[in-house]
Amino acid sequence: MPERTCIACRTKGEPNRFFRMVAGPGNEVFAELDSRLPGRGAYCCIGPGCLEKALNPKNLERCLRARVNAPEAGELTRNLRALLKNRMEGLLGAAWRKKAVAAGRDTALRAARSEKEGRLFLAEDLSPGSRSEVNGERSGPVAELHMTMAEVGAVFGRRPVGVFFVANGSLADSLELRSSQIRSFKVA
Ligand SMILES: [Zn+2]
Repeated sequence: MPERTCIACRTKGEPNRFFRMVAGPGNEVFAELDSRLPGRGAYCCIGPGCLEKALNPKNLERCLRARVNAPEAGELTRNLRALLKNRMEGLLGAAWRKKAVAAGRDTALRAARSEKEGRLFLAEDLSPGSRSEVNGERSGPVAELHMTMAEVGAVFGRRPVGVFFVANGSLADSLELRSSQIRSFKVA
């Protein structure tokens, strides 16, 4: 897999750690999680610190070799959060179609005990009581998902889902990574 380099901190890493910016025809800057948009792109770590630094117009114009109207950090953050949310829904949908999801507390806990790979996920608005019950009964890792029970349920075409197990290691990893990235933008 080709490595990317952040234009703010120069860290190198796998593509899923970065977002990409390209200059549009009207000097606007487009952001994306993949490398689909044509033209010269600049990569930046997904997180508030590097994002702010990467918007320095001089640096950005040098990296993109184009005149740009750098977006405001707040606007770019909102844009990235939406892209990440959309990506999480896509990953969840893919897991569901692969029949790799056990939804609901009891089903999920049972799957967590019997499956060799995967992870338990908790929706962000799961009640503290249910949360501690799951933590008491679980075997194996558990991850917090930056989505509400209603949002998770909507992807599965069901009522709200607060606890579920994803029995696919790479989908579970991606879901946890995207969730931690979106959480990193949370205002302190
Ligand atoms: Zn960086």
